[in-house]
Amino acid sequence: SSESVEGQTYVIGTDTTFAPFEFRQDGELTGIDMDLLRAIAEDQGFEVEIRSLGFNAALAALSSNQVDGVIAGMSITDERKEIYDFSEPYFESGVQMAVAANNEDITSYEDLKGKTVVAKTGAEGESYAKSIAKEYGFKVKSLDQSATMYESVKAGSAVAVFDDYPVLAYGIAQGNGLKTVTDRVPGGSYGFAVNRGENTALLAAFNDGLAELKASGEYDQILDSYLADPT
Ligand code: GLN
Repeated sequence: SSESVEGQTYVIGTDTTFAPFEFRQDGELTGIDMDLLRAIAEDQGFEVEIRSLGFNAALAALSSNQVDGVIAGMSITDERKEIYDFSEPYFESGVQMAVAANNEDITSYEDLKGKTVVAKTGAEGESYAKSIAKEYGFKVKSLDQSATMYESVKAGSAVAVFDDYPVLAYGIAQGNGLKTVTDRVPGGSYGFAVNRGENTALLAAFNDGLAELKASGEYDQILDSYLADPT
């Protein structure tokens, strides 16, 4: 007999500001990840207590069992699969570079020579930036939050930021003062994560609920409510 999630409360870690996946609106945590998780919990009959920890802190909290799972625009990667079990992918993503909207000097990775870029601690953007840093001769400074990374690019303490392209695109469309100048680097899709071999009932319920939301059209409704072009 399999363990049931019904009536259980699970503590779930997430990032702080990673719009449109998680962010605060009028003090409330909202976004695609939050809506998907809450709808899945409702569909599957469990409760969630969401902790807005920051990306790297959420992964650390998961590893030390302070949270049961993480949903944070977290990319499914082979390296992470060694320590976490992931749900079915629910969103395709990858990394891209952005610069200040008024920056005309940086139009390619070659222009980063001798400069400093920012990326998020423990994130795919950081791994990617570090993987090409030597080749192009730039430095990578790691910060914990997307909001802080964007501010440091606008303030000129870094010339560019490497972050997930759906998040950069959303922020740019909202007028955050950045622009993208290089191609997207397609990467891992997002998944919900638990520690490897643990919380198997929760993971199964997440997958079942996700399938239900896709079949009912609610998955599309949630995505559209954040991403559909205004007409
Ligand atoms: N998708 C990226 C990763 O998993 C970034 C996630 C985030 O910053 N919340 O590393």
